[in-house]
Amino acid sequence: MAMQITTGTSELRDITKMERIGAHSHIRGLGLDDRLEPRENSQGLVGQAKARKAAGMILKMVQEGRIAGRAMLFAGPPSTGKTAIALAMSQSLGPDVPFTMIAASEVFSLSMSKTEALTQAFRRSIGVRIKEESEIIEGEVVEIQIDRSISGATKTGKLTIKTTDMETIYDLGTKMIEALTKEKVLAGDVIMIDKTSGKISKLGRSFARSRDYDAMGADTKFVQCPEGEIQKRKEVVHTVTLHEIDVINSRTQGFLALFAGDTGEIKPELRNQINTKVSDWREEGKAEIVPGVLFIDEVHMLDIECFSFLNRALEGDLAPLVIMASNRGMSRIRGTKFRSPHGLPMDLLDRVLIVSTKPYSDDEVQQIIGIRCQEEDVKLSPEATQVLTSMALQTTLRYALNLISCAQVLARKRKSEEVQVEDLRRGYSYFMDDKRSVQWLKEQQGNLISEEVTGGDDDVMDTD
Ligand code: ATP
Repeated sequence: MAMQITTGTSELRDITKMERIGAHSHIRGLGLDDRLEPRENSQGLVGQAKARKAAGMILKMVQEGRIAGRAMLFAGPPSTGKTAIALAMSQSLGPDVPFTMIAASEVFSLSMSKTEALTQAFRRSIGVRIKEESEIIEGEVVEIQIDRSISGATKTGKLTIKTTDMETIYDLGTKMIEALTKEKVLAGDVIMIDKTSGKISKLGRSFARSRDYDAMGADTKFVQCPEGEIQKRKEVVHTVTLHEIDVINSRTQGFLALFAGDTGEIKPELRNQINTKVSDWREEGKAEIVPGVLFIDEVHMLDIECFSFLNRALEGDLAPLVIMASNRGMSRIRGTKFRSPHGLPMDLLDRVLIVSTKPYSDDEVQQIIGIRCQEEDVKLSPEATQVLTSMALQTTLRYALNLISCAQVLARKRKSEEVQVEDLRRGYSYFMDDKRSVQWLKEQQGNLISEEVTGGDDDVMDTD
């Protein structure tokens, strides 16, 4: 019985681990040096030098806050690392710079309009860094930095506040400085501040150690003097997104919707009010805007209404950097009869920086396979590595990478820790790649139920 339980747990752990190894979990950054030159194989990324360098340049502009309302498009054949590079960019952004990733088809939902879904994606990608002064909690011992130069050496002291009165620390601090200068209060003395008149009385150093001091406790306002002057009050900085502010303030949704993920539509009037509030905070120096990044994968799936929304939204002063990716060549713009490069209307194409990705060489594919094997903790024999590389070149890189874990399961079934060519061959026979699937469909003509489609013949960019 005990045995079974142990086995069950270890299996469970393995499954959790597998879940954590996503398709891009080996990507840790763009792998660029200080001059933004891409290293051949670094931070999980291999080759695709031009695209990585371009991504690095854009990233630098985002980090310097010099870019807003810009858009870039990664265009290239399937499995050439468009998504991988976008994710690498997100990993190099600071911890409070928001990064949102959507697939264009997510915009078409029954619960909200397309433009609302896009607006939410935009506002999720704009951070608001809010500065707040901390409040004193009743009975709390607040430590603040107090510097005083005594014969050239800086001493740091501690201010202890014992009060039920919720006055800010700054207020008490100011009085403290007053006491130090006017009343010649010494460090370690206990002073009492009269709430109404603000008059300071000195209770003597020993009072802090007396039973009276403990007994008077929280009802009376006492301050024990630190050594020196108060430099500044405690400041707490936290970053939230504009979308989070919207949801928290939306009466119909309430902040709990943030956890449920079901935020519904938000009224435009509320968003206007929030924009005004945020711009007031900015003027008062209480908040800063942190433009983030919105990544829209498979952007050719958007339709003409969404594209015109994007065009307009990019012009707003609260716009993130929008990164798009498409593997389409000449394609129909959804919602129109027109064909255009990557399925994007010309006016939008005109304003985006286009970065192309190209198919990988044998050597690059082999290196990527090596990285994935390490990530998934799979040992591949040298012959199997060769075979998997040629499989990737014949099918797609993504297909070959998916085969790694399948082959490992097959290898384990025959009690081997190393994946051999035979495991790959068996995996290859169980799972079809897209080319074999098309071939099989042709052979099955008449046996399967088909639907007739008119128009919409899009070109997928060629991997060869
Ligand atoms: P699609 O057009 O089909 O969406 P894509 O260009 O977005 O394809 P990715 O999904 O980024 O392709 O790549 C497929 C797989 O290969 C992913 O697991 C990705 O992490 C990996 N990959 C792609 N390029 C590289 C690279 N240069 N270095 C390391 N891994 C890569």
